[in-house]
Amino acid sequence: MTESVLARLLIVGPQGSGKGTQGARIAEALGIPAISTGDVFRANIAGGTELGLQVKAIIDAGDLVSDELTGAVVRDRLAQPDAANGFLLDGYPRNIAQVRDLDEFLAPRGEGLSAVIELDVPRDESIARLHQRAVDQGRADDTEEVIANRLAIYERETAPILDVYRARGIVDAVDGIGALDEVTERILGALAARSISV
Ligand code: AMP
Repeated sequence: MTESVLARLLIVGPQGSGKGTQGARIAEALGIPAISTGDVFRANIAGGTELGLQVKAIIDAGDLVSDELTGAVVRDRLAQPDAANGFLLDGYPRNIAQVRDLDEFLAPRGEGLSAVIELDVPRDESIARLHQRAVDQGRADDTEEVIANRLAIYERETAPILDVYRARGIVDAVDGIGALDEVTERILGALAARSISV
């Protein structure tokens, strides 16, 4: 039997690709925590914490929170015991500097990401889904102008991180179009091919 590989995962995709939903499903299936920086920030905003107050205007505008602040949130979370046996990152790293920060945090622990799931969804479909989410959830950062800003930032800052991980041979591109279960199965299939499984 092949030795199984610890699931230290990252899910990447444009806003509206379904990465949050799929990330949560994959994490649950593998029994690892899903760590979404967007969720952490939103919870802090809702709770009126110091961090929430610091990031609210930035998030409402669809801009990126500083690497320092975001890095501190992630390091804190990854240091918790439930992340010792694997984790799924959703929304971090989001630019090249954050890739470097994450490497610097994981390397001394003898760790690195074991797979990066790239969720492929055409731009038009992402935009349509974001508009639908705006109607369903009323998120402050799902307005027309902010959606355009977030997608532009994704293309400029986030998409290039995939080149770095591709060079490491750990990226699995998965078609994000289809029923929720179908997409989840595709992702689990790609991970199983890397001996990452339940
Ligand atoms: P998300 O739910 O992943 O779309 O994140 C919502 C918002 O949180 C983003 O538009 C950013 O303003 C902020 N955010 C989330 N993750 C990061 C990150 N890694 N770096 C900077 N800002 C982030």
